[in-house]
Amino acid sequence: MGAYEVLDELGKELPGARPPTVYRALAFLQEQGLVHRLESISAYVGCLHPDHHHAVQFLICRDCGAVQELTDAEVEHTLGRIAGRCRFEADSMVVEVTGRCAGCVRS
Ligand SMILES: [Zn+2]
Ligand SMILES: [Zn+2]
Repeated sequence: MGAYEVLDELGKELPGARPPTVYRALAFLQEQGLVHRLESISAYVGCLHPDHHHAVQFLICRDCGAVQELTDAEVEHTLGRIAGRCRFEADSMVVEVTGRCAGCVRS
């Protein structure tokens, strides 16, 4: 969901909700690990494993917009090693893979 879609949904419950309110709410949810932000498509998705911090990779379908959340610790480990080799101190290691989902490839 994009921030404006969230705003639309929220508007049904809370008439008069303004964009700053929505951005603040999303930032809070993100901080709590309840949603992830998808930078490449400027959207947010609810987290599937909000109970613990985890490595996260996304498969984003460019045709239907489906987003699959993966938590492959090996990917995070590899990225961490590569960053370390470059003496780069990583804050976030979210991987966003765009392409076409199984359903869209089939049709
Ligand atoms: Zn998650
Ligand atoms: Zn698709």
